Amino acid sequence: MTAEWLECIACHAQFASTEVRYTCDCGALLSLERPAGFAAKLATRTFDARLASRDDVDRSGVWRFREAVLDVPTSAIVSHPEGATRLYRRPSLSAYAGVEPLAFKHEGENPTGSFKDRGMTVAVTQAVRLGERAVACASTGNTSSSLAAYAAQAGTRAIVFVPAGKISLGKLAQTLAYGALCLNVRGDFDAAMRLVNKACAKLDIYLLNSINPFRIEGQKTIVWELLQDRGWRAPDWIALPAGNLGNTSAFGKALREALEGGWIDRVPRIAAIQASGANPFSRGFAEDFRTRHRMKAETIASAIRIGDPVSWDKARAAIAETHGVVGEVTDAELLEAKRAIDEAGIGCEPASACSLAGVRKLRAAGTIRPSDDVVCVLTGHVLKDPDVVLHAPGIDRSSQTIEIDPTVAAVEAALANRL
Ligand SMILES: *Cc1c(COP(=O)(O)O)cnc(C)c1O
Ligand SMILES: [Zn+2]
Repeated sequence: MTAEWLECIACHAQFASTEVRYTCDCGALLSLERPAGFAAKLATRTFDARLASRDDVDRSGVWRFREAVLDVPTSAIVSHPEGATRLYRRPSLSAYAGVEPLAFKHEGENPTGSFKDRGMTVAVTQAVRLGERAVACASTGNTSSSLAAYAAQAGTRAIVFVPAGKISLGKLAQTLAYGALCLNVRGDFDAAMRLVNKACAKLDIYLLNSINPFRIEGQKTIVWELLQDRGWRAPDWIALPAGNLGNTSAFGKALREALEGGWIDRVPRIAAIQASGANPFSRGFAEDFRTRHRMKAETIASAIRIGDPVSWDKARAAIAETHGVVGEVTDAELLEAKRAIDEAGIGCEPASACSLAGVRKLRAAGTIRPSDDVVCVLTGHVLKDPDVVLHAPGIDRSSQTIEIDPTVAAVEAALANRL
């Protein structure tokens, strides 16, 4: 096992990994770091061997990579287990994007239906290690669902701050079902985020937003697992939706460490895709990140309805290091892509479809070539936001749902010209 410490990404000040802090005294974000060369001491064959294990910790798509995630005894791990999500390939979606090969890593297959579980298993394990009695987050719904589930497992009090009336019914119900206390903040996500920051500091509650560096450590495994499932062959591109930018940051760190460790021999380019109504990072990218943009966010993709992303600096580094790009898609574009994903029998929540919509757009612009090897990450499950499936602008399900009398004649009439 390796030693670990928290390190400031700006001034490189170091702090013990058991200290409760989320930012440096200089104000910059913290990152969990290990001695130089640690990744090279880990062999991908160790991770591969665990695929055949029957042990939950080995089978978890996060803890399978535990030496590079968190240095704790396996008995201390709070795991559902999570991860081990599948890669999907569909000719219809390759045709839609104009790219082949194209695969989808479906993070909606995690225990609470989004990739948030990968960060939460690590951060809640850390919370227990620190002896925290309460954990909190601001959330558009998926972080809160995940936090609630893992806190329930750990026996820790869960408090979530959500923008009042702005989260999907599926996510709200799920969060309540797992037993969390839900504070409906009159304001948007960014207001809830500012509030939870202050409240956690004042009330000695452990903060589990992705500003928490332990979340990032878990989310790295999305990339490692997809590389592993490809036999450690790097794709040309990895595309993902981008909101608060925790995942973009995690992908950058995962690729940096995988390259340093010799697990892969080249780095895929990251394509981080925002919704055009919540596009501060995309605006920043378009002008070489000269300014940090903040905005009032509005998009149908509630998971990325974020105007002041917390992990901006880490994500900017991830884009620079991977020679990545930041794109944006309109709500109409992401809804169209969602429909293609749904009708391929895979399904995802609206924000997730940014990856496909973004790849299609980057292909059309010539940034992605037709024969590039691309992996899109689908971040959340289709059931997370049933309202969009049924009632989004331009959606009409009336020809698909027909109420009938219980007679064969009625069935026959309903199926006329449809068999
Ligand atoms: C959280 C989330 C995102 C955005 O990820 P960030 O790390 O905040 O950029 C995208 N899609 C879904 C479904 C999410 O839950
Ligand atoms: Zn600092």
